[in-house]
Amino acid sequence: MANTKNYIIATLGSHTALQILKGAKDEGFRTLCICEKGKSEPYKSYGVADEIMEVEKFSADSFFKLENELIKKNAIVIPHGSFISYIGPEEVKKIKVMHYGDKGILEWESDRTKERTWLLDAGLKMPKIFKSPEEIDRPVIIKFHGAKGGFGYFIANNAKEFHERIKRYKDHEGYVIQEYIVGVPIYTHYFYSNLADELEIMSFDKRYESNADSIGRIAAKDQLDVGLETSYTITGNIPLVVRESLLPQLFEMGKNVVEKSKKLVNKGLYGPFCLESILDPKLSFYTFEISARIVAGTNPYTNGSPYTWLKYNEPMSTGRRIAREIKNAIEVGRLKDILG
Ligand code: ATP
Repeated sequence: MANTKNYIIATLGSHTALQILKGAKDEGFRTLCICEKGKSEPYKSYGVADEIMEVEKFSADSFFKLENELIKKNAIVIPHGSFISYIGPEEVKKIKVMHYGDKGILEWESDRTKERTWLLDAGLKMPKIFKSPEEIDRPVIIKFHGAKGGFGYFIANNAKEFHERIKRYKDHEGYVIQEYIVGVPIYTHYFYSNLADELEIMSFDKRYESNADSIGRIAAKDQLDVGLETSYTITGNIPLVVRESLLPQLFEMGKNVVEKSKKLVNKGLYGPFCLESILDPKLSFYTFEISARIVAGTNPYTNGSPYTWLKYNEPMSTGRRIAREIKNAIEVGRLKDILG
């Protein structure tokens, strides 16, 4: 039996903290939530945190200030999307407290060029990138660097439209022009256990974005009259199951991405990750992004998904799956294999 009580599972109070902490408690760990002042209510109300630490504002600085305290408590930190965005992929490398997951892979995930090399080498199809507006010969989506949650992305069909529409965005930090794939977004949530060398598909989601998901509620004529502009600001996640015959292909894609990652960084990619794709009408997946950690799209499944039910016969969220992996590693004396 793993002595889970010797460890405390810690994360920042945001993103997927509820299911991470709940999952850790279900596996017998103590839990700690680092919250911004005034934002701890959900973690208290749902009873998922044994301890709460408060900071004025999330940042690399505020995290490093309390790191020694975390080390004393024998904490294992679980990174999630907000954790990485507040601390930054470079600063994450300096973390000394026990950290679940390989830190090196975050650099491959956060650098668009490296990410593209990794995914293309893994045999995934990706939307074409246009080097200049003059090359645009099909619908494209213009994505601004540092645009949190897809705010202000716009669509263009040719160079003329591009130049007209970009005028509205004066203070941007640069952009990428990407082929717009007409299809449906499917986000696949994987978990790769490097202890067992096994890849699992935990669940799927699609996003609920403002205002993209409500534009259809207004007649096309009115959209034009009021000069509506599409934005993709993420507001929530919608659960999804996919056509069963797509699963073999999705397992294959996940396995190839994991295999390639082993050639890029020390231990490779392990634990939860997500391939964000558009599926076109010919059933081809075009992947436009990888998240090399738990994604918020797993949040509808705190009690497990239809897929985890098949495998586990007990409630198994991605947060709980992480804690189960840590528990298994402690039991067999391989904790260092899953810490990065
Ligand atoms: P990040 O996760 O880096 O913050 P983001 O969430 O701001 O990125 P994306 O996930 O890249 O933004 O895209 C926002 C929305 O645009 C999503 O709904 C996605 O489905 C859609 N989208 C992105 N790229 C494409 C594409 N090439 N073709 C069609 N739709 C796309």
